[in-house]
Formats: sequence, C-alpha cells, structure tokens
Amino acid sequence: MSEHSSTDSGDDLICLTAARMAQKLRTGEITSVELTRAHLDRIAAVDGGDHGVHAFLHVSAEEALATAAEVDAVRASGGAAAEALHPLAGVPIAVKDLIVTVGQPTTAASKMLDGWMSPYDATVVTRIREAGMPILGKTNLDEFAMGSSSEHSAYGATRNPWDLERTPGGSGGGSAAAVAAFETPLALGTDTGGSIRQPGALTGTVGTKPTYGSVSRYGAIAMASSLDQIGPCARTAEDAALLHELIAGHDPKDATSLPDEVAPFADAARRDDVAGLRIGVVKQLRGEGNSDGVAARFEDTLDALREAGAEVVEVDCPSFDYALGAYYLIMASEASSNLAKFDGVRYGTRELPEDGPVTIERVMGATRAAGFGDEVKRRIILGTYALSAGYYDAYYGSAQKVRTLIQRDFEAAFDDVHVLVTPTSPVTAFRFGEKLDDPLAMYLNDVATIPANLAGVPGISVPIGLAEGLPVGAQVLAPVREDARTYHVGAVIERLMQGQDGPLWAQVPEPTAAATPTSGE
Ligand code: GLN
Repeated sequence: MSEHSSTDSGDDLICLTAARMAQKLRTGEITSVELTRAHLDRIAAVDGGDHGVHAFLHVSAEEALATAAEVDAVRASGGAAAEALHPLAGVPIAVKDLIVTVGQPTTAASKMLDGWMSPYDATVVTRIREAGMPILGKTNLDEFAMGSSSEHSAYGATRNPWDLERTPGGSGGGSAAAVAAFETPLALGTDTGGSIRQPGALTGTVGTKPTYGSVSRYGAIAMASSLDQIGPCARTAEDAALLHELIAGHDPKDATSLPDEVAPFADAARRDDVAGLRIGVVKQLRGEGNSDGVAARFEDTLDALREAGAEVVEVDCPSFDYALGAYYLIMASEASSNLAKFDGVRYGTRELPEDGPVTIERVMGATRAAGFGDEVKRRIILGTYALSAGYYDAYYGSAQKVRTLIQRDFEAAFDDVHVLVTPTSPVTAFRFGEKLDDPLAMYLNDVATIPANLAGVPGISVPIGLAEGLPVGAQVLAPVREDARTYHVGAVIERLMQGQDGPLWAQVPEPTAAATPTSGE
C-alpha cells in the first residue's frame, strides 16, 4: 500500500502477504485479534456504500474475532498446543458464497437461496476452521458462478479496487477484489471455466485452479460437476500455495477426490531456478484476440523468461479453438441438471403463482421464474436443449469429443514442455455494462482459462504488470497432478515481472479516494 496516505498501524497490518502475517503471529509481534480487527475495520471502511467495493455479501465479525481469540489463547499458553498450531492459524480468510458454511448464510448470489443457512460445512471450510483461520465472511459472485464480471449477482456487482467503475472479473470477483482491496489476505474461490484465474488477472492478484479432484468440492454448490474446482485467491504464489496445501488432499465425501498425498506447494513457490525449464507458449492464445496492452505485457514476460535462462517455444494446440464452444455446451448441460433441484419444493425459496390453481408444476414454475436471474435461465435453457432427445449427439456428444481432443493437445504439449503459458484474460478490467447485454462478448473472456477445466489440468494466474493503469495476468498450466510446477513457474514470473515499484498487489490505489465520481471520459 505504498501509495496510501494513511500510516496507522491497522493499515500496516493489512498490507502484508499472508506468509508475513503468519510469521508476525508466530513470533508474537501481533495477535490474531488485532489482525482480524484490522481487516474488519478495513471492510467497514471500503466495502459498503454506493461506491464501496462490495466484495462481501455477509460479514461475520463476531465469529471471526472469536476464532482469533481462541488461536491467540492457544499461542499464549505456549507448549505443545502452540507448537501444533497450523502455520496459517490466526490469518483471516474470506469464502466465496458458493461454498457452504454453518452459521453464515450461503446464497450463491441468487434470490433462490436468499437467507438460506447450510446445516453443514464444506470440507474446505472444515479444514480452514480446524487450522484456526478466522472466517471474515462470504464473498460476492455472479449468480451460481455464471459469469465473468460479477455483474450477474442478484445482490449487485463487486467493484474493481483498481478502478471502481470497472468489474473485477468473475464469477469470483468478490474474493479477488477483497484480496486486492486489503479486506482479506486470502480467500477461497471456485473455478469452473476461469472464475478464480480471470478475476485474479483483472485485480492484480494470484488465483489458482488446482488439478481436478485434488481439492474436495464437498459443500461447493455444483455448477458443472465435471469442471468445478475449489482453489485459493491470494497476493502471491507463495500465499496461494500455503492455502492450497491446507485445503488439498483426499476426502471420502467427494466421489471425484484423488487419493494423492499433498505436495509441498509452498516450497515450489519459493524456487527461483529457471535454467533447464522448457516453457510452451500456446500459439492459439498468443496473438489476435488479446488487447494490445495484454499482448505487450505477455511478450515482455516471455522475454524476461528467456533472459533468465528458460527455453521458450511455441506449441500448437489446434483443438483449443473449439474449447469455448465445447465448454458452453458441457457446462450448460451439467448446470441445467444440477440446478433442477431448486424448484421451491426440494430446495430454494418458494413462490406461489400470482393467480390460477396452485399445483406443484405451477409453484415450481413461479419459483424458478422469480428465483433465477436471466443468465442462469439462459444457461438452463441452453443446457436443457443440448441434452434433449434428437440433439444430444449433435451438441453434447460433439462437445465431449472436442473435450477429448483438447486433452490430447495437452498431453502432446506436455510431452515436449514442462508448462504452458498464456495470457489469463484477453483484456484488462472492463467497465460495468460493457458486455452485459452481449453474452458472447462476456463468454469470450474465458477463452484462455477454459481448456484447463475441460482437461482437468492445474493452472495459476499471476500479475505481469499494468496496461493503461490496469493489471494484466499470465496463466501457467501444468500436467494433471503437477500443481507444484504452476507454483514454481508462477512464482518465477511473479518475481521477474515485479518491476521497480515492487509487487503489483501493493500498488492498488486507495478505493475510497477512487470512489470520487470522475467526470465523463
Ligand atoms: N466465466 C465462466 C462462465 O461464466 C466461468 C465460470 C466459473 O468458472 N464459475 O461460465
């Protein structure tokens, strides 16, 4: 927060990496109650009001402070219990409101789940609770995680701290903006087609989509089950890796959960060796389609990698050209099926028909008409159509074949290179309303992030500089189960592209200052 005028101790506390906060907690320099209170104060200062960031749908001050006090007491008591504390104990976190939590509402940013309280915790939430991380609250998203701008939230859009007139990306705009605006050092997101990585790129933060099945999705409200993955949002690759180590690992409650041991991701994020690395640039995602600013920063990144001793080669992934089309069929098909349960009878609010007889069908119809927003309805209709008899082979079946071809492109590429790199998003943060009425323009934001979900491979987005004052991100993709490589190369890029002014996350303008309305451009 080098540009911030305020120098009070609360600001000093919140403008640190999670790793540094954890260290200060360990050495007793600060307490978790101080740290948690500083974040709650920050949320109160910048999140609300007409021009606030609006990253949070729910803030849970009391619960967060109680957790913090418990951790502080254990630490103060010393001995074995203090020794046994998790490295992130006492470091606050926020949770995307698609992930269920006991004691805090879960809405999926939909009217359908307004006021709903989950009777159980998601496995990732259980893990962060067990680690003693105070949960500050639930973050905003596009309704049911459908969107790339957070504008599809039924509770109003989140603003990008870099420019409050622009979106932070989506669907996980709330988690990314909260990290960028110093409202929390860490957050959980979900990524079905890019919802952790693209908001990371648009807010100058780091976002990771783990290998499919490596982090339990138990308790994440399903969007498209063959694509969904929970992952970390953070300021640095190392911070993301620390959180990833905590949430990863086998979970018998998730049928797709891998049995693997958790790798030391944070160690990988501390590596800075580049020599011997063979890095592939995906030809299909390099050139046209990217804005000039994004393309320029990306080419700078490749130059920096070469200069540091990496071998950079172009890799052909011809099927990636069809990834967006395949994704919007597979995702919509699975979403239409997953969301069928929100009918006012089994799940969701209940709406009675305005007039006429009250039959089950008519209650379901009235509930779904009132409870879902336009984008959710669009996808349910698209998915239902794609799955209907007579169209199934032509649409869903073809999309699954494309998916196999994309997996083969990845396999062939990873026979040749250690990792692939692409720009995370073809554009920087766009203005509110710019793409809202044009679903295809909105969908095009995900062109680079979607292939990883279709193939199950891990990916990270790290900041690589600014274009016209707005953050740009690059994505590192690795083979399935090789998440450590994304952290290694992601951290290398993060350091190479940091620039003279230090890390990008520390340069975000003060949101309250930026909130002053600007005269028309
Ligand atoms: N933006 C993409 C979509 O709208 C991805 C969403 C996500 O990853 N949850 O489908």
